[in-house]
Amino acid sequence: MTSVYLEELDAPTYAAIATSPGSTVIVPTGATEQHGPHMPLGVDAMLSRDIAAAVAQTMGAVVAPSFSYGYKSQPRSGGGNHRIGTTSLSATALMAGTDDVVASFMAQGFKNVIVLNGHFENYQFLYEGIDKATTRMRANDLSARAILLSYWDFVDEDTLSQVFPEGFLGWDIEHGGVLETSLMLLLHPQLVNMTRVVNHPPASLTPYDIFPEDPSRTPESGCLSSAVDATVERGQLLLDAITTAISRSLDSELVAVSGSPVPELVQGSPC
Ligand code: ZN
Ligand code: MN
Repeated sequence: MTSVYLEELDAPTYAAIATSPGSTVIVPTGATEQHGPHMPLGVDAMLSRDIAAAVAQTMGAVVAPSFSYGYKSQPRSGGGNHRIGTTSLSATALMAGTDDVVASFMAQGFKNVIVLNGHFENYQFLYEGIDKATTRMRANDLSARAILLSYWDFVDEDTLSQVFPEGFLGWDIEHGGVLETSLMLLLHPQLVNMTRVVNHPPASLTPYDIFPEDPSRTPESGCLSSAVDATVERGQLLLDAITTAISRSLDSELVAVSGSPVPELVQGSPC
């Protein structure tokens, strides 16, 4: 039984997986970002990695090392880049890193590269990096496919109404709120301190941004809504719904069997 995590595999095992028909690697992307006084800085990276592993197990995929830094946190979705604890990449760095990693997995034989996003602000820059990589790969006659998704987009209406019985106010204010905290209570309970949750009303967001950021526009807690209603049970509902929905969607989208010869592995220099 080999690990689902690519960094735990030896090179020959990795090579056999990468070059097998229908091979699939999932790249988790997150951020290093403050998540209020009750949760750690790595929430976005941890949750994308955990969800990637749950999805990978349903489809025989492997999970790549995570992007643990993300694009700049913004006041209207992540509290803002000015908050202590938040360490971010520029757009060009995230685009270039995504391009390099996606192209490299494809060149090593993976037929499907899934980028699983766990940090709201990343999406368009991941998109650009993937687009550049796949355009270049196509020019080299590689038949691989890439897919980009953010995990919260797979929460269905029924699950939403169970997790937010008082009404759902939108994903943008879920930074450090019920969604992430419930998933963390399920997956990393030792890293959550519910006695430190600040109970405050949802942040009132303007439909515009201000530069430089005005710190008074972010709730003091650093969260955009309160996690006071987060529970392990809600975390389980979310994880099950998300894992099932992502797996089902990918099932019909992935390149199942290689239609073209497996590209030759480029030999790295000995180290
Ligand atoms: Zn987050
Ligand atoms: Mn985030």
